[in-house]
Amino acid sequence: MPTVPEYFGSLVFDSRVMKARLSGEVYHSLKQTIQKGTRLDLSVANAVAAAMKDWAVENGATHYTHWFQPLTGVTAEKHDSFITPAPDGRVIMEFSGKELIKGEPDASSFPSGGLRATFEARGYTAWDPTSYAFIKGKTLCIPTAFCSYGGEALDKKTPLLRSMEALNRQALRILQLFGHQDVRRVTASVGPEQEYFLIDRDMYLRRRDLVYTGRTLFGARPPKGQELDDHYFGTITPRVAAFMEDLNTELWKLGILAKTEHNEVAPAQHELAPIFTTANIATDHNQLTMEIMQKVAARHNLVCLLHEKPFAGVNGSGKHNNWSITTDTGVNLLSPGETPHENAQFLLFLAAVIQAVDDYQGLLRSSVATAGNDHRLGANEAPPAVISIFLGDELTAILDAIETDTPYSGGKKQKMKLGVDALPRFTRDNTDRNRTSPFAFTGNKFEFRMVGSSDSIACANIMLNAAVAESLRLFADELEGAGDFADALHRLIQKTIKAHKRIIFNGNGYDDAWITQATEERGLLNLRTTPDAVPMLLEPDNMEMLVRHGVYSETELRSRYEIILENYCKTVVIEATTMVDMVRKEILPGVEHYLADVVSTAGAKKELDPSLPCGYERRLLHKLSALAEAMDSRTEELEQQLAALGTITDLAERAAAIRDIILPAMSALRCAADQAETLTERSCWPFPTYGDLLFGVK
Ligand code: ADP
Ligand code: MG
Repeated sequence: MPTVPEYFGSLVFDSRVMKARLSGEVYHSLKQTIQKGTRLDLSVANAVAAAMKDWAVENGATHYTHWFQPLTGVTAEKHDSFITPAPDGRVIMEFSGKELIKGEPDASSFPSGGLRATFEARGYTAWDPTSYAFIKGKTLCIPTAFCSYGGEALDKKTPLLRSMEALNRQALRILQLFGHQDVRRVTASVGPEQEYFLIDRDMYLRRRDLVYTGRTLFGARPPKGQELDDHYFGTITPRVAAFMEDLNTELWKLGILAKTEHNEVAPAQHELAPIFTTANIATDHNQLTMEIMQKVAARHNLVCLLHEKPFAGVNGSGKHNNWSITTDTGVNLLSPGETPHENAQFLLFLAAVIQAVDDYQGLLRSSVATAGNDHRLGANEAPPAVISIFLGDELTAILDAIETDTPYSGGKKQKMKLGVDALPRFTRDNTDRNRTSPFAFTGNKFEFRMVGSSDSIACANIMLNAAVAESLRLFADELEGAGDFADALHRLIQKTIKAHKRIIFNGNGYDDAWITQATEERGLLNLRTTPDAVPMLLEPDNMEMLVRHGVYSETELRSRYEIILENYCKTVVIEATTMVDMVRKEILPGVEHYLADVVSTAGAKKELDPSLPCGYERRLLHKLSALAEAMDSRTEELEQQLAALGTITDLAERAAAIRDIILPAMSALRCAADQAETLTERSCWPFPTYGDLLFGVK
């Protein structure tokens, strides 16, 4: 049995393998491309392709694929085999530099939001050498960007890489001002904590709602839920432990730094956190992690649910996106430093994030908007839909002191004149792990907690990188022209705190009073649903900023707007249709079956002895019949409302109708069905209950 260090990354064409298999010259120019983005020579590409192919074939691969992330949110791949006919009728395994660099999947069926007319359906994939190729099954997977022939990004990777570039560009300007001529590159680092549920596969297959939509659309509360908090960090059951062990092995082979795992708050809920890496690799790895979780679960006869809200009444799942900015000299720019100079620099980057989050709340909120996440945000188990920043008491006190030019009383008494007087040393604030904040500073990184568990982390990081790049740009513009740097810096930080402190909130984000204060007194946005949030993509200020930094073009943004709203509509319509189907074909027949049993029991009683009381049977028949009537009429209604959607051609109107008419109608239908469940004999209920699902994996 090989040890972990022996097999870690064994399925990755990483720099270790490159170094061993490429000539010094080829290795060097590939490194230049990876680190500095220099153009790759075709001869180098050919050499890399040949080495990659040899390595992949030795490791059992027969095919290769350009692995990309279309706007569906999942990853896509089309496999081509390496085989090429040889003159003697046999085949040889070949792979050229051209095939490595560029692919042309016939991708006409991927959503493009109108970016690509069907007559020009081709898109092309382009190799991203900054994320390593890897082997999955028998296929060499080459991470790629996916673009249209006109050059518009049809994927999530391209804008992510562009946003990282924008952040790099602007952060370098600031670092120059602080005299860091040695820094060549600044990177966004990300560590996403992934939450998920594990349930038994046999039970899963008996629930059409889970199979079609990934969440339960019916289900009465079980007698026990998460109220005892006995699952959080609890002992991991043998079956789950076996799954996690297997999962770790698979992830480690792919070079994914899976680090911690524990049970979460809800029964059957768990979490996996990797060690952070660049935003690009973290995104690729998170996509792979989600895929491999599902595969490994199946091997254990389990199903991994990644939906944001698979069960009503217990916590949903999110993805905490831990984000920081690091230099190629190994400095975390969000880490408070030791010296006044370092602290001034830290405070400037902190101010940049504060301004970015305040100015671009709408974009950040839109970056996590999906039908699934709407059930979670603001449901008092995940952050509210209002974005605010948690800084902790000490840092907030320091900012207060700077703002008002008063001595900071938390630590040593001294005047806060940045870069001139000494600043107090900040200690990492571990005192308050405020779990209710959507955007929390946790010592040397920010944790954006609104991302949904099934979503790609790309969108959130694109907006975050771009918004912070914009603050840094404005800061650099101001500071570059300043006569007295220290003085200008101080004034800039002070001004930024004054202008943006409304976004800082250290209290309880679940409190209703906060939502009132946030919206009414502070004027923060409260975009509760996807149809409310997505139009933020088209707000002129937001668009201008993203276009200025080359992150998205205007057409690309319009396409995202359409795709997200379309996806929202389709998702809810599938859910509603599934409900109609389940009520008609399973729930009503199950209830009727039970009613027949009750009727025949009552009849048998009367036959045996007419004086036997049958009040219980009668009352039950009345209650259940009334619920059956309600289910029937609400199903009819829902169906009519779904049909009426067909007449709404405007996308925003359709999404609004879904939010305002379809979702409430679904809730009403569910309500009747869940009540019926509590009155129906177990064996007559057509599918596994919440109790079965949540406590079914031992
Ligand atoms: P917790 O938030 O539960 O206290 P940690 O702080 O150890 O746990 O880290 C949670 C996640 O944050 C991990 O994925 C970790 O790799 C990531 N992380 C830690 N430091 C950074 C950083 N500087 N930048 C980005 N992510 C980070
Ligand atoms: Mg955390």
